[in-house]
Amino acid sequence: MSKFVDILNKDNFSKQDLISMLDAEGTDKKLLYKKSREITDKFVGNKVYLRGLIEYSNVCIKDCLYCGIRKSNTNQQRYTISDKEVISCAQYALDNNYGSIVIQAGERTDAIFIAKITSLLNEIGKISNGKLGITISLGEQTLDVYKEWFNAGAHRYLLRIETSNRELFQKIHPINQLHSFDTRIEALHNIRKAGFQLGTGVMIGLPHQTIENLADDLLFLKAMDVDMVGMGPYIEHQNTPLFEAINLLSTKKERLELAFNMIATLRILMKDINIAAATALQAIDGFGRERAIKIGANILMPNITPGNFRNKYKLYEDKPCTDENPIDCNTCIDLRMSMIGSKVGYNEWGDSIHFKQNKKNIIEKTVLKI
Ligand code: SAM
Ligand code: SF4
Repeated sequence: MSKFVDILNKDNFSKQDLISMLDAEGTDKKLLYKKSREITDKFVGNKVYLRGLIEYSNVCIKDCLYCGIRKSNTNQQRYTISDKEVISCAQYALDNNYGSIVIQAGERTDAIFIAKITSLLNEIGKISNGKLGITISLGEQTLDVYKEWFNAGAHRYLLRIETSNRELFQKIHPINQLHSFDTRIEALHNIRKAGFQLGTGVMIGLPHQTIENLADDLLFLKAMDVDMVGMGPYIEHQNTPLFEAINLLSTKKERLELAFNMIATLRILMKDINIAAATALQAIDGFGRERAIKIGANILMPNITPGNFRNKYKLYEDKPCTDENPIDCNTCIDLRMSMIGSKVGYNEWGDSIHFKQNKKNIIEKTVLKI
């Protein structure tokens, strides 16, 4: 057996093992993907769960150096979707048996915004009779706000750490209190404390990022014991400060291939978590999300934002599906999934098995103590 196969068959992985997996090319890469597919089938199955993505607002108080909707990008026209439109998006997800939605937006921490999200969550719960699973991705908030939104019916939260390396985090964010690595870590702990299934992730192929950094990211995800991960390639945006570092970037194709190796390695490392096929994969390769699903991702987030807002949620260049109506995306999902041997879990929440297992273990331990 080759040395690489020995690595793939381990139960515990060192940082060097992870680096070998991230670096895999040729035959080794095929072996890596074969292994990650086997593990996906064994631990989470071949079903893919849908989360209809609502890009609720591009208003943001932050200035992350990589993001096209950062506060200081004055070229970006701002929008917030009306309540009525959000509810009709949720209704669209229900009517099309999506099982879940994701509400994502730029970050706001003011009382009006917090109350608005609470009331939208309550309303979505009412129209769906609690049938629609709700993930939210609304940035750093206080523990009380996380609790409020959890109690209003959201049950999964996605907040990417972006990079687990403090120095690199500081290179891609302004250095001030609003963009603090420690606050981000604390927010992740608070999301879990509030009761949410915890999702985080990183960008892959950032300027200054090394393979060692990415291996550390994987170890960070494992140490945080996260339930879900959303990660994808970094894609430059012309009207952002990080665009200046364009000469330090590998090609988009190389970033994409590295993202696939990250997904496959993560699946082998954290066997029963949910892994999303990020939209940024599709921005580089029209079949990027399908390729991710083939090698370990099990969550798809079709964009169901009303067509007239899509062009305004421009995080990076070439963001896909910007002028399409939801219907255009929906009709091809079944076909695309069947082409790669996957099935769509219609009307199912598709919660993280890892989360359920952890919860079960806690209950069993408590019962044993009693
Ligand atoms: N504002 C919330 C937050 O930051 O968590 C949610 C929305 S934010 C736009 C969602 C994610 O978009 C970020 O976590 C970041 O990883 C990703 N993103 C932003 N700019 C990007 C870029 N240029 N390339 C790839 N991903 C990007
Ligand atoms: Fe705002 Fe999120 Fe973009 Fe940062 S990544 S600028 S918080 S939308």
